[in-house]
This record gives sequence, C-alpha cells and structure tokens, in this order.
Amino acid sequence: MKYVSTRGGAPALGFRETLLAGLASDGGLYVPDAWPSIRHGASDAPFARRAAEIMGGFVDGEIPQPILEALCSEAFSSFRDPLVAPLRELGENRWLLELFHGPTLAFKDVALQFIGRIFDHVLTQRGERITVVGATSGDTGSAAIDGVKSCRNVEMVILYPKGRISEVQRRQMTTIDSGNVHAVAVDGTFDDCQDLVKAMFNDAPFRERHRLSAVNSINWARVMAQVVYYFTAIEQLHAVESTPVSFSVPTGNFGNVLSGWIARHLGANVGHLIVGSNSNDILTRFLETQSMTASRVVATMSPSMDIQVSSNFERLLFEMNSRDGRATARQMADFRSSGSLSVTSEQFGRWIRPVFRGQRCNDADTLSMISRMHREHGVLVDPHTAVGLVATEACAEPDEPVVTLATAHPAKFADAVERATGLRPALPDHLGDLMTRTERFVELANDLATVQGFVASVSATR
Ligand SMILES: *Cc1c(COP(=O)(O)O)cnc(C)c1O
Repeated sequence: MKYVSTRGGAPALGFRETLLAGLASDGGLYVPDAWPSIRHGASDAPFARRAAEIMGGFVDGEIPQPILEALCSEAFSSFRDPLVAPLRELGENRWLLELFHGPTLAFKDVALQFIGRIFDHVLTQRGERITVVGATSGDTGSAAIDGVKSCRNVEMVILYPKGRISEVQRRQMTTIDSGNVHAVAVDGTFDDCQDLVKAMFNDAPFRERHRLSAVNSINWARVMAQVVYYFTAIEQLHAVESTPVSFSVPTGNFGNVLSGWIARHLGANVGHLIVGSNSNDILTRFLETQSMTASRVVATMSPSMDIQVSSNFERLLFEMNSRDGRATARQMADFRSSGSLSVTSEQFGRWIRPVFRGQRCNDADTLSMISRMHREHGVLVDPHTAVGLVATEACAEPDEPVVTLATAHPAKFADAVERATGLRPALPDHLGDLMTRTERFVELANDLATVQGFVASVSATR
C-alpha cells in the first residue's frame, strides 16, 4: 500500500514515510491509495489487540504485526479504564463512548499515546532523531507532550499563548518532568504561536537542519488510530449485524468524524455520522448550503472546537472528486483565495446527504445540556460532549441507535460543568496533585529569531 497526496503533486510514500512526513510536500494530506479490507465481527479481544488488527490493514506489513501489537499494548495501557474506550448507556438507544480515560483526559490521547510510540520505533529503526514543533491553544499540546515524553528520538517544543490557556491545561504541559519536552510560553496569542510555527516550517534550511516534524491533526496516523474505536464500539454493542449504529461527533477540524467516515467506508456497521458544531459552525453550514465558507473564530465554552477551517475535510473532498488530486488542489487554492468552496449537487447527493447530519449549538444550549444530563442521568459531561449530545437530540430518530463521542473528561472543563450543575468534578487520582506540582517552562518574546534560537538550542540535531 502506498499513500498519495490529496493534491496529486507529491511522491507516493509507504506508511513509515507518511507517518514522519505529516503534511505532503504539495500542501496536501496523505491518504491510502486503496482502502484495505478489515474484518468486523463480534470480538472479545482487548482494545489493543483490535487496534493492532485494524491499523495493521493500513500499516501493511511495514511494521511487523507482533511489534505493532506491542506498541498498541504499551500505548493503551496508559489508559485508566481497561476497556480503553468504554460505553455508558444513557437510556434507550443512546450511549456515550468515553474517550477520555487517557493521561490528559481528552480523546486526543487515543491517537497521540500510540503515535509517540510508533514514531520512536520507526526513528530507532532508522537511526534518526527529530524535533517536533507545534502550537497549542490547550488540549493538543498536553496530549502531544504526554505522547512523546518517553521517546528517546524526539525532542518536542510546544508554544502556547502566555496567560491565555486554562491553569489545568498549562499545568498538564509544564509539569511533565521529561528532558525532551519543552513548553514555551509566548508573549502573544494562539495565532501568533501558529504563525511562529509556520514560519519555522517555511524556513527550509532551518527545517532540514533541525529535522522539524509535526504531530498535528492532519497526520495520517492520527486519523488511522481514531478509526479503531468506531469498530470496537459497534462490536461492544454486539451490533455488527443489526441496525446500523449512528455516531454523533463534536468536531471542529473534521478529524474525528472523518475517522468515522473511514470506518463506515471500510464496512463498519455505521449508520449516520452526526456532526456537532459549537458557534464556529463551518461544518454545519456546509451541510445546509453545500458550501464551505470560512469566517472569524469566536471563543466558546468548547475551545478545542474553536477553529476557522476544518482541514481534514480535504480528505473527504478528495473522495468526492473521485480521487482527482488536481481538481482537489484547484478547489483548495480557490478556497484559500476566496474563503469559500462549493461542491456540486451530484457530489452532495452521493457523498454527503445519505451519511451526514449536523447541528450547531451555542454556549447557552451547551450549559443546559450539561445540566439536563446531570438531572436526568446523573452523569457529568464536559462542554464538547454536550455539543455532541445536542446534535444527537436534534438529528436522530428515537429508534435509531446513537453513540455520542465523549471527547473530554468533565474535570478538564470544571468551570463550565460547575456553572451548569453546581458540582465541581474532581480530577482523577493520577492528576490529583496537578495544582501543586512544580512547573517547568520557558518564556519567550513573540519574535521568530528568538524562538528559532531556542529551538536550535534544544533540537534533536544540536
Ligand atoms: C480536539 C478536540 C475536539 C475536536 O476534534 P476534531 O479533530 O476537530 O474532530 C473535540 N473535543 C475535544 C475535547 C478535543 O480536545
């Protein structure tokens, strides 16, 4: 199996090269050149074994199956629940899929705990070291740091906007006592941090000298790892051959829901994919209008979905264009210049209408859903999960089985939960002393030369 770029202008790569490359050299995203076939069946296998079986179809022998299984075992043993992604029933035909039992309490751990291990394995094999550089507005940074904290061949520098992320989020990054991770407080906004990262990647000599790499949400391996829990949720419900199970996904970047689409495309018994947006509703507007139009980001209670452009949508667009990379590249170029992208009625009717539903949700509706879940089911949910639950309610039939993805632990967004319910959810035991641990971080000016100087001083190739 080879991986090809959605823009058709980059060399096809094997799995390991795709993993290390992240973004394709033509600016596109990598996808497999053909979809593998994956066995779907009632299975009592532990999550790690199923994960290795399912991802094995995409790794295609580039990592021997026993090693892949060992990497999965190690990655998923960092989860507090032995099922890794357990279901919780919420009344007739409704479930939550709890994806927040990983070390940093958000669903990104599922992919990033695995990615840290597989990166290190591939780099060790090749005798290489890399410097992962990223910007974060909160959740991604802590999950990425935790994923690579034990890697011998990865140095990581994460920029975050000083004073603009929550204390829990900051402490999850600054209290990791691991010499290879460097949390950097930049005197600026999240956009400033992103611009600094982009500028470092655009500086080709710098990028090559320090072997810069990224683990952001466009990395194929993240999408691949998220496919697993769509299969295992259906298998846990013993619903492989019964009524299809719909999934409601709180999303911003279209990453998680794209993984659901892939699972469905590969034959998992998935019904509808329900997209839950907060007020940054580019995706739900697309479902209404057939056209994707960027607008300003507004801050909400579900900050991990406060994004302007849903980058992973490009992978579905490539399928909708019958895998024509040139056509996709043209559309993306138009989108960059005009801020808008439309698909034809034929494409919409074939790919979108039969599969996707969507609902947006503002902060007031988010709070009332959190409060209702507590009243009616005795469950505390975080604001992202609540957005998914609002979408489930708006889009699903009563007799349609629906699994809503619970993407963060309520304690990660304790202020919102407390506002809605009067209860302050406690951090799980392993983070109980988070607020008193020693913090380690570097403060830098919002200045490219300064930040590059720092990256050079800690880089994997210094
Ligand atoms: C990142 C994140 C999301 C959105 O993920 P997408 O990749 O945009 O689908 C949702 N909820 C939480 C808690 C997150 O951290």
